Amino acid sequence: MSAFILEILCRGCKRCINACPVQAITMLAHLPVVNHTKCMECEACMEVCMHGAITFRATEEMNRNG
Ligand code: SF4
Ligand code: SF4
Repeated sequence: MSAFILEILCRGCKRCINACPVQAITMLAHLPVVNHTKCMECEACMEVCMHGAITFRATEEMNRNG
């Protein structure tokens, strides 16, 4: 599992970026992108997101879906 950004809900506030203890989230074209190899599944980003734009799902599933 790894944090996953639901881009349609994201408002680009960067709270998740500031909350991540391992700098696994970076901004790319006004949207946060999670480095899935760095993410340690602490859920800090999900807790600070006020827009429900972060969820967790299997990395395998993500690879399958692109
Ligand atoms: S779950 Fe934790 S480590 Fe992973 S991106 Fe969110 S804040 Fe960073
Ligand atoms: S905290 Fe939520 S709304 Fe803000 S940039 Fe991160 S994912 Fe987007």
